[in-house]
Amino acid sequence: MASKMKKVLVLPGDNIGPEIIAEAVKVLNKVNQQFDLGIVLDYAHLGGAALDAVGEPCPQETLDKARASDAILLGAVGGPQWDNVERHLRPEKGLLTIRSKLELFGNLRPAIMYPQLAHASSLKPEFVSGLDILIVRELVGGIYFGEPRGIRILENGEREGYNTYKYSESEILRIGRMAFEAAMVRGKRLCSVDKSNVLEATMLWREVMNELAADYPEVELSHMYVDNAAMQLVMRPKQFDVIVTGNMFGDILSDTAAMLTGSIGMLPSASLDKKGGGMYEPCHGSAPDIAGQGVANPLATILSVAMMLRYSLDAADAADAIEKAVSDVLDQGLRTGDIYTDGMTRVGTVAMGDAVVAAL
Ligand code: NAD
Repeated sequence: MASKMKKVLVLPGDNIGPEIIAEAVKVLNKVNQQFDLGIVLDYAHLGGAALDAVGEPCPQETLDKARASDAILLGAVGGPQWDNVERHLRPEKGLLTIRSKLELFGNLRPAIMYPQLAHASSLKPEFVSGLDILIVRELVGGIYFGEPRGIRILENGEREGYNTYKYSESEILRIGRMAFEAAMVRGKRLCSVDKSNVLEATMLWREVMNELAADYPEVELSHMYVDNAAMQLVMRPKQFDVIVTGNMFGDILSDTAAMLTGSIGMLPSASLDKKGGGMYEPCHGSAPDIAGQGVANPLATILSVAMMLRYSLDAADAADAIEKAVSDVLDQGLRTGDIYTDGMTRVGTVAMGDAVVAAL
């Protein structure tokens, strides 16, 4: 008997979004039944799909359903179909809106190198095999949200684009705590990345991280400027355990870390609120260049389901089972195009999803 019903809202999104979500839902349905999790699914629109359906990228109905759920599973949003819509209606705006309305301030992005894929990385296998980094990115503050912002006309008639980079102490504290807590259950090493030699907002960031460290004496805290962090990530990536950083630096560094692992198609992410609820999605975008071809890698989304089970649905056993099943299908030599190397078996999106279900 399922102990308690848990609601998951599924937001397929745009382009490859619905394709990869279909496979992730298959996997979720399988563990739901196997582990008697009592999960019920609901669906809503976000991004371009929402814009086409109801004229806005983050409809109120989607927000209401999201608030009534225990967790949200998202595909990806955006694409050239909506390049010419007004800025406030762009699909990506829908994503920023749902993240900020639900206060999903903590973005956890693991970059794990599966030994089976060590040769898919652009770095030599010895630099990346065994890599296991967790990037904790602040997601609802910093320069992506700071006001004032815009494009204005200066007195001399030329245009000027401007944004505001700011972080309040409480914003830094809550993401800092999430990162220290994450470090506590991993290698107990936390590297805070900033640009405190230039930006006052990140001088405060560094100060607050140092103050927080007193509450976590077991965690070894270090600091790194973002330019050096970018260099170190590709030079000696295995030195890192957990990295905590602001929204913009985290955006860039987590994509770099993603590529170390060979494919962005393998990487899940979680965006959490302070109660442990959250939205789970692959790190990649909606890949319009391969949409509709049935070749997208669904594993990042399937691994996002595992993160969702672990962090928001109290089902660590089911999460472990999914992660093991993914590793098993890699052992079987199955590869989508993005992770394909000679001698492996090339499969499409649906076949990869079916293989994970079979491995479960
Ligand atoms: P992208 O991540 O969609 O694609 C980058 C490259 O990676 C492409 O060549 C793509 O084919 C490939 N790729 C991505 N996911 C893949 C997968 N699962 N399997 C195989 N290959 C995969 O980034 P982009 O091209 O910069 O952006 C495309 C659209 O996605 C844009 O509209 C962008 O704004 C949006 N986007 C959305 C999100 C999100 O929804 N969270 C994140 C990033 C970008």
